[in-house]
Amino acid sequence: MEYGKHVHVAAGHQRQEHSYPRSLPEFQRLFPDEAACAAYLERSHWPTGFVCPRCKTAGDPFRIASRPRVLRCRKCRRDTGLTVGTVMKDTHMPLSIWFWAAYLVSSQTPGISAVQFQRQLGLTCYETAFQILHKLRAGMVRPDQDRVGGLPNEHVEADETWVGGRTRGEDRGVHNKVLVVGAVEARWRDPDSPLNKRKAGRYAGRVRLAVVPDRSAKSLCGFIEHAVEPGTLVVTDGWESYNGIKKLGYDPYPVAARGDPEISEAYLPMIHLVFSNMKTWLRGIHHGVSEQHMQAYLNEFTFRFNRRFYPFNAFRSLLGIAGGTEAPTYSDLYSGRWKHPTPR
Ligand SMILES: [Zn+2]
Repeated sequence: MEYGKHVHVAAGHQRQEHSYPRSLPEFQRLFPDEAACAAYLERSHWPTGFVCPRCKTAGDPFRIASRPRVLRCRKCRRDTGLTVGTVMKDTHMPLSIWFWAAYLVSSQTPGISAVQFQRQLGLTCYETAFQILHKLRAGMVRPDQDRVGGLPNEHVEADETWVGGRTRGEDRGVHNKVLVVGAVEARWRDPDSPLNKRKAGRYAGRVRLAVVPDRSAKSLCGFIEHAVEPGTLVVTDGWESYNGIKKLGYDPYPVAARGDPEISEAYLPMIHLVFSNMKTWLRGIHHGVSEQHMQAYLNEFTFRFNRRFYPFNAFRSLLGIAGGTEAPTYSDLYSGRWKHPTPR
Protein backbone atom coordinates (compact mmCIF):
# COMPACT_ATOMS: atom_id res chain seq x y z
CA MET A 1 0.00 0.00 0.00
CA GLU A 2 1.34 3.37 -0.94
CA TYR A 3 1.56 6.28 1.39
CA GLY A 4 -1.21 8.83 1.09
CA LYS A 5 -3.42 6.58 -0.95
CA HIS A 6 -6.80 5.40 -0.03
CA VAL A 7 -8.00 2.11 -1.35
CA HIS A 8 -11.59 1.13 -1.58
CA VAL A 9 -13.35 -1.59 -3.41
CA ALA A 10 -15.69 -0.02 -5.92
CA ALA A 11 -18.95 -1.46 -7.15
CA GLY A 12 -18.27 -4.32 -9.52
CA HIS A 13 -15.30 -5.50 -7.46
CA GLN A 14 -12.94 -3.09 -9.15
CA ARG A 15 -10.22 -1.68 -6.99
CA GLN A 16 -9.96 2.02 -7.26
CA GLU A 17 -7.35 4.22 -5.77
CA HIS A 18 -7.47 7.90 -5.13
CA SER A 19 -4.58 9.95 -3.96
CA TYR A 20 -5.79 12.29 -1.29
CA PRO A 21 -6.19 15.69 -2.95
CA ARG A 22 -3.65 18.31 -1.97
CA SER A 23 -5.84 21.33 -2.47
CA LEU A 24 -9.49 22.29 -2.33
CA PRO A 25 -9.70 22.79 -6.13
CA GLU A 26 -8.21 19.31 -6.62
CA PHE A 27 -10.74 17.94 -4.16
CA GLN A 28 -13.54 19.74 -5.96
CA ARG A 29 -12.52 18.07 -9.21
CA LEU A 30 -12.80 14.69 -7.51
CA PHE A 31 -16.25 15.46 -6.05
CA PRO A 32 -17.65 18.05 -8.44
CA ASP A 33 -21.35 17.56 -7.86
CA GLU A 34 -24.15 15.76 -6.05
CA ALA A 35 -23.89 12.71 -8.31
CA ALA A 36 -20.16 12.20 -7.65
CA CYS A 37 -20.69 12.47 -3.89
CA ALA A 38 -23.71 10.14 -3.99
CA ALA A 39 -21.68 7.59 -5.98
CA TYR A 40 -18.95 7.75 -3.34
CA LEU A 41 -21.49 7.18 -0.55
CA GLU A 42 -22.95 4.24 -2.47
CA ARG A 43 -19.54 2.60 -2.90
CA SER A 44 -18.85 3.17 0.79
CA HIS A 45 -22.10 1.55 1.92
CA TRP A 46 -22.01 -1.33 -0.57
CA PRO A 47 -18.44 -1.94 -1.71
CA THR A 48 -19.48 -5.06 -3.60
CA GLY A 49 -22.70 -3.67 -5.00
CA PHE A 50 -26.10 -2.60 -3.67
CA VAL A 51 -28.08 -4.97 -1.46
CA CYS A 52 -31.57 -3.88 -0.41
CA PRO A 53 -31.62 -3.50 3.39
CA ARG A 54 -35.26 -4.59 3.46
CA CYS A 55 -35.58 -7.61 1.16
CA LYS A 56 -31.84 -8.38 0.94
CA THR A 57 -31.97 -8.55 -2.85
CA ALA A 58 -28.64 -7.82 -4.48
CA GLY A 59 -28.56 -6.00 -7.78
CA ASP A 60 -28.36 -2.63 -9.37
CA PRO A 61 -31.08 -0.36 -7.91
CA PHE A 62 -33.24 2.21 -9.67
CA ARG A 63 -31.68 5.65 -9.65
CA ILE A 64 -33.95 8.65 -9.64
CA ALA A 65 -32.39 11.64 -11.35
CA SER A 66 -34.24 14.19 -9.23
CA ARG A 67 -33.39 12.36 -5.97
CA PRO A 68 -29.67 11.45 -6.12
CA ARG A 69 -29.57 10.67 -2.39
CA VAL A 70 -31.92 7.72 -2.76
CA LEU A 71 -31.62 4.24 -4.27
CA ARG A 72 -34.76 2.21 -5.02
CA CYS A 73 -34.83 -1.56 -4.86
CA ARG A 74 -35.92 -3.13 -8.16
CA LYS A 75 -37.73 -5.92 -6.36
CA CYS A 76 -39.57 -4.43 -3.36
CA ARG A 77 -39.37 -0.79 -4.51
CA ARG A 78 -38.22 0.35 -1.10
CA ASP A 79 -36.18 3.58 -1.13
CA THR A 80 -32.90 3.56 0.76
CA GLY A 81 -31.23 6.81 1.72
CA LEU A 82 -27.53 7.22 1.09
CA THR A 83 -26.99 9.70 3.92
CA VAL A 84 -28.53 7.58 6.67
CA GLY A 85 -26.13 7.33 9.58
CA THR A 86 -23.99 10.21 8.34
CA VAL A 87 -23.72 13.80 9.49
CA MET A 88 -25.46 14.81 6.23
CA LYS A 89 -28.70 13.08 7.11
CA ASP A 90 -31.77 15.35 7.15
CA THR A 91 -29.97 18.33 5.68
CA HIS A 92 -30.73 20.12 2.46
CA MET A 93 -27.21 21.36 1.85
CA PRO A 94 -25.64 19.87 -1.27
CA LEU A 95 -23.51 16.81 -0.50
CA SER A 96 -20.62 18.46 -2.32
CA ILE A 97 -20.63 21.33 0.20
CA TRP A 98 -20.47 18.83 3.05
CA PHE A 99 -17.65 16.95 1.32
CA TRP A 100 -15.63 20.11 0.70
CA ALA A 101 -16.24 21.30 4.24
CA ALA A 102 -15.03 18.00 5.70
CA TYR A 103 -11.97 18.23 3.47
CA LEU A 104 -11.11 21.67 4.84
CA VAL A 105 -11.66 20.67 8.44
CA SER A 106 -9.81 17.35 8.24
CA SER A 107 -6.80 18.65 6.34
CA GLN A 108 -5.61 21.66 8.27
CA THR A 109 -6.89 25.20 8.66
CA PRO A 110 -5.99 26.05 12.26
CA GLY A 111 -8.78 27.96 13.88
CA ILE A 112 -10.72 28.47 10.67
CA SER A 113 -13.59 30.84 11.36
CA ALA A 114 -17.11 30.42 10.03
CA VAL A 115 -16.56 33.56 7.92
CA GLN A 116 -13.41 32.20 6.26
CA PHE A 117 -15.16 28.92 5.83
CA GLN A 118 -18.19 30.58 4.23
CA ARG A 119 -15.88 32.36 1.78
CA GLN A 120 -13.88 29.23 0.88
CA LEU A 121 -17.01 27.23 0.13
CA GLY A 122 -18.77 30.11 -1.60
CA LEU A 123 -21.76 29.94 0.74
CA THR A 124 -24.19 32.85 0.74
CA CYS A 125 -25.42 32.26 4.28
CA TYR A 126 -23.17 32.65 7.31
CA GLU A 127 -25.53 30.62 9.47
CA THR A 128 -25.17 27.62 7.13
CA ALA A 129 -21.38 27.83 7.31
CA PHE A 130 -21.58 28.02 11.07
CA GLN A 131 -23.88 25.01 11.34
CA ILE A 132 -21.78 22.82 9.05
CA LEU A 133 -18.57 23.73 10.82
CA HIS A 134 -20.19 23.10 14.18
CA LYS A 135 -21.44 19.64 13.17
CA LEU A 136 -18.10 18.59 11.71
CA ARG A 137 -16.21 19.86 14.77
CA ALA A 138 -18.51 17.85 17.02
CA GLY A 139 -17.16 14.75 15.27
CA MET A 140 -13.63 15.75 16.22
CA VAL A 141 -14.09 16.44 19.90
CA ARG A 142 -15.19 12.88 20.47
CA PRO A 143 -12.03 11.57 22.02
CA ASP A 144 -10.50 8.35 20.77
CA GLN A 145 -11.22 5.68 23.30
CA ASP A 146 -8.47 3.12 22.89
CA ARG A 147 -5.20 3.44 24.72
CA VAL A 148 -1.90 4.01 22.93
CA GLY A 149 1.14 1.73 23.11
CA GLY A 150 0.69 -1.93 23.86
CA LEU A 151 3.02 -3.23 21.17
CA PRO A 152 6.12 -5.12 22.30
CA ASN A 153 8.31 -3.38 19.74
CA GLU A 154 7.56 0.21 20.56
CA HIS A 155 7.63 2.47 23.56
CA VAL A 156 5.67 5.53 24.64
CA GLU A 157 7.10 8.90 25.61
CA ALA A 158 5.25 10.83 28.32
CA ASP A 159 5.79 14.38 29.51
CA GLU A 160 3.99 17.55 30.59
CA THR A 161 4.02 21.11 29.33
CA TRP A 162 2.44 24.47 30.15
CA VAL A 163 0.20 25.85 27.45
CA GLY A 164 -1.24 29.22 26.59
CA GLY A 165 -2.10 32.04 28.89
CA ARG A 166 -0.42 35.37 29.18
CA THR A 167 1.43 36.25 32.31
CA ARG A 168 0.60 39.86 33.02
CA GLY A 169 2.98 41.77 35.19
CA GLU A 170 4.19 38.70 36.97
CA ASP A 171 7.61 37.47 36.03
CA ARG A 172 8.26 33.86 35.17
CA GLY A 173 4.87 32.87 36.48
CA VAL A 174 2.70 30.16 35.10
CA HIS A 175 -0.46 32.12 35.79
CA ASN A 176 -3.36 31.57 33.40
CA LYS A 177 -1.49 28.70 31.90
CA VAL A 178 -2.87 25.23 31.56
CA LEU A 179 -0.89 22.11 32.36
CA VAL A 180 -1.11 19.51 29.61
CA VAL A 181 0.20 15.96 29.88
CA GLY A 182 0.83 13.88 26.79
CA ALA A 183 1.79 10.38 25.73
CA VAL A 184 2.92 9.45 22.24
CA GLU A 185 4.02 6.24 20.58
CA ALA A 186 7.63 6.34 19.37
CA ARG A 187 8.01 4.32 16.19
CA TRP A 188 10.71 3.53 13.70
CA ARG A 189 10.43 3.40 9.97
CA ASP A 190 11.85 0.56 8.01
CA PRO A 191 15.41 1.68 7.13
CA ASP A 192 14.78 0.62 3.52
CA SER A 193 11.52 2.51 3.25
CA PRO A 194 11.52 5.41 0.77
CA LEU A 195 9.74 7.34 3.53
CA ASN A 196 12.74 7.01 5.77
CA LYS A 197 14.09 10.46 5.03
CA ARG A 198 15.34 11.17 8.49
CA LYS A 199 18.47 9.38 9.46
CA ALA A 200 17.07 8.33 12.79
CA GLY A 201 13.92 7.01 11.14
CA ARG A 202 11.97 7.80 14.27
CA TYR A 203 8.44 9.14 14.01
CA ALA A 204 5.44 9.77 16.21
CA GLY A 205 2.57 7.29 16.26
CA ARG A 206 -0.69 7.96 18.05
CA VAL A 207 -0.92 10.61 20.72
CA ARG A 208 -3.09 11.25 23.77
CA LEU A 209 -3.28 14.68 25.44
CA ALA A 210 -5.09 15.77 28.59
CA VAL A 211 -5.44 18.81 30.80
CA VAL A 212 -4.36 18.01 34.35
CA PRO A 213 -4.60 20.19 37.47
CA ASP A 214 -1.02 19.61 38.65
CA ARG A 215 2.11 17.45 38.37
CA SER A 216 1.13 15.20 41.25
CA ALA A 217 1.39 11.42 41.13
CA LYS A 218 -2.39 11.22 41.20
CA SER A 219 -2.75 13.40 38.10
CA LEU A 220 0.10 11.95 36.05
CA CYS A 221 -0.32 8.26 36.94
CA GLY A 222 -4.05 8.69 36.45
CA PHE A 223 -3.42 10.01 32.94
CA ILE A 224 -1.04 7.16 32.06
CA GLU A 225 -3.54 4.61 33.28
CA HIS A 226 -6.27 6.19 31.16
CA ALA A 227 -4.18 6.79 28.03
CA VAL A 228 -1.58 4.01 27.75
CA GLU A 229 -1.93 0.23 27.52
CA PRO A 230 -0.50 -1.57 30.56
CA GLY A 231 2.73 -3.42 29.86
CA THR A 232 4.07 -0.62 27.69
CA LEU A 233 7.57 0.73 28.20
CA VAL A 234 7.03 4.37 29.18
CA VAL A 235 9.91 6.84 28.90
CA THR A 236 9.68 9.88 31.20
CA ASP A 237 12.06 12.60 32.33
CA GLY A 238 12.43 11.00 35.72
CA TRP A 239 9.94 13.21 37.53
CA GLU A 240 9.04 11.38 40.75
CA SER A 241 5.30 11.53 40.16
CA TYR A 242 5.69 8.87 37.48
CA ASN A 243 7.23 6.42 39.96
CA GLY A 244 3.84 4.88 40.63
CA ILE A 245 3.31 3.58 37.11
CA LYS A 246 5.33 0.41 37.78
CA LYS A 247 2.72 -0.65 40.32
CA LEU A 248 0.05 0.01 37.70
CA GLY A 249 1.61 -2.55 35.39
CA TYR A 250 3.81 -0.37 33.17
CA ASP A 251 7.47 -0.74 32.37
CA PRO A 252 8.97 2.60 33.44
CA TYR A 253 12.06 4.04 31.78
CA PRO A 254 12.86 7.20 33.71
CA VAL A 255 15.63 9.28 32.20
CA ALA A 256 17.48 11.42 34.72
CA ALA A 257 17.34 14.57 32.65
CA ARG A 258 17.72 16.89 35.67
CA GLY A 259 16.67 19.82 33.57
CA ASP A 260 19.27 19.16 30.88
CA PRO A 261 17.44 19.95 27.63
CA GLU A 262 19.84 17.89 25.52
CA ILE A 263 19.19 14.72 27.47
CA SER A 264 15.44 15.16 27.53
CA GLU A 265 15.50 16.03 23.82
CA ALA A 266 17.39 12.84 23.08
CA TYR A 267 15.01 10.60 24.99
CA LEU A 268 11.72 12.44 24.56
CA PRO A 269 11.93 13.88 21.02
CA MET A 270 8.49 12.78 19.85
CA ILE A 271 6.44 14.16 22.72
CA HIS A 272 8.33 17.46 22.46
CA LEU A 273 7.58 17.56 18.74
CA VAL A 274 3.90 16.96 19.50
CA PHE A 275 3.87 19.72 22.13
CA SER A 276 5.56 22.10 19.72
CA ASN A 277 3.08 21.36 16.89
CA MET A 278 0.18 21.63 19.29
CA LYS A 279 1.31 25.04 20.57
CA THR A 280 1.87 26.36 17.06
CA TRP A 281 -1.64 25.27 16.12
CA LEU A 282 -3.18 26.77 19.26
CA ARG A 283 -1.45 30.09 18.56
CA GLY A 284 -3.28 30.17 15.23
CA ILE A 285 -6.59 30.23 17.05
CA HIS A 286 -7.52 33.86 17.14
CA HIS A 287 -8.99 34.41 20.54
CA GLY A 288 -6.69 32.25 22.57
CA VAL A 289 -7.91 29.21 24.40
CA SER A 290 -9.35 29.34 27.87
CA GLU A 291 -8.87 26.50 30.30
CA GLN A 292 -12.47 25.38 29.99
CA HIS A 293 -12.15 24.83 26.23
CA MET A 294 -8.60 23.51 26.20
CA GLN A 295 -9.51 19.82 26.34
CA ALA A 296 -11.83 20.19 23.33
CA TYR A 297 -9.00 21.79 21.35
CA LEU A 298 -6.59 19.08 22.46
CA ASN A 299 -9.07 16.49 21.23
CA GLU A 300 -9.34 18.26 17.88
CA PHE A 301 -5.55 18.38 17.56
CA THR A 302 -5.36 14.71 18.53
CA PHE A 303 -8.01 13.74 15.98
CA ARG A 304 -6.04 15.26 13.11
CA PHE A 305 -2.62 14.23 14.38
CA ASN A 306 -3.58 10.57 14.79
CA ARG A 307 -5.03 10.48 11.28
CA ARG A 308 -2.37 12.51 9.49
CA PHE A 309 -1.23 9.50 7.47
CA TYR A 310 -4.83 8.64 6.60
CA PRO A 311 -6.53 11.87 5.55
CA PHE A 312 -9.30 10.02 3.74
CA ASN A 313 -10.15 8.25 6.98
CA ALA A 314 -10.27 11.57 8.84
CA PHE A 315 -12.52 12.99 6.13
CA ARG A 316 -14.84 9.97 6.20
CA SER A 317 -14.92 9.88 9.97
CA LEU A 318 -16.01 13.53 10.14
CA LEU A 319 -18.86 12.89 7.73
CA GLY A 320 -19.85 9.74 9.58
CA ILE A 321 -19.22 7.51 6.57
CA ALA A 322 -18.53 4.01 7.80
CA GLY A 323 -17.54 0.72 6.27
CA GLY A 324 -16.42 -0.29 2.83
CA THR A 325 -12.84 0.81 3.11
CA GLU A 326 -9.66 -0.98 3.78
CA ALA A 327 -8.01 1.32 6.20
CA PRO A 328 -4.28 0.83 6.10
CA THR A 329 -2.67 0.16 9.41
CA TYR A 330 0.65 1.45 10.56
CA SER A 331 2.10 -2.00 10.16
CA ASP A 332 1.05 -1.98 6.50
CA LEU A 333 3.12 1.11 5.99
CA TYR A 334 6.00 0.59 8.31
CA SER A 335 7.69 -2.29 9.92
CA GLY A 336 7.88 -1.50 13.60
CA ARG A 337 11.15 -2.83 14.83
CA TRP A 338 11.90 -2.55 18.47
CA LYS A 339 14.88 -0.46 19.42
CA HIS A 340 15.90 0.57 22.84
CA PRO A 341 15.48 4.30 23.23
CA THR A 342 18.80 5.91 22.46
CA PRO A 343 19.95 9.45 21.86
CA ARG A 344 19.95 10.50 18.23
ZN1 LIG B 1 -35.87 -4.66 -1.68
